[in-house]
Amino acid sequence: PQFVKILDVPFINTTRAAFIQTLQNRIEKKEKTFVVTANPEIVMASLNDPVYKKTLEKADFITADGIGIVKAAQLVGQPLPERVSGFDMMLDLLQVANDKHYRIFFLGAADHVLQETLAKVKSDYPGIQIAGAQNGFFDWKDPVLPQMIKDSKPDLVFVALGFPRQENWIGGHIGQFNQGVFIGIGGSFDVFSG
Ligand code: UDP
Repeated sequence: PQFVKILDVPFINTTRAAFIQTLQNRIEKKEKTFVVTANPEIVMASLNDPVYKKTLEKADFITADGIGIVKAAQLVGQPLPERVSGFDMMLDLLQVANDKHYRIFFLGAADHVLQETLAKVKSDYPGIQIAGAQNGFFDWKDPVLPQMIKDSKPDLVFVALGFPRQENWIGGHIGQFNQGVFIGIGGSFDVFSG
């Protein structure tokens, strides 16, 4: 099947490499995309929190973030090929973006972490166009940030606000954007810059 449902959450049945190609195709077509990398904590939140469940329903793709989901898929007799985590995808997408000169907006983390992340991107992935950046401690009610992201015409938006903030933020704003692959990647900037 194309999807494997675990407690009603539809996980995309894909390898990481095939999924990165899927995202690249959507970037080329400027198709706006909301990606959630879901671990067992997210599956439980979808069971217990109707608001979070509504947010998950807005996602175009939900990937299996971690071995817990891969094991659960095996248990329900519909195995998933491998885990497709946010950090691994960030590294893959940086490589693709470097080759294709994509525009990336970086949203999230403490400011010093964000600045170190940007510095590393500039030195290690010189082909990437940094569309913009904002640390993860901002006023959610201020419309300036969504407008700035929209105006920056990003191909990719890394949203590193952690669970459940990143999904809530993307779900709450995706309607305002015309383009971009938006992906929640948790604490990946901390790992990347560390
Ligand atoms: N973070 C953020 N804004 C916030 C809270 C957290 O940008 O309001 C960042 C934090 O700096 C870290 C990432 O989100 O880079 C993940 O945070 P945390 O470890 O708290 O989240 P979780 O591990 O639960 O996803």
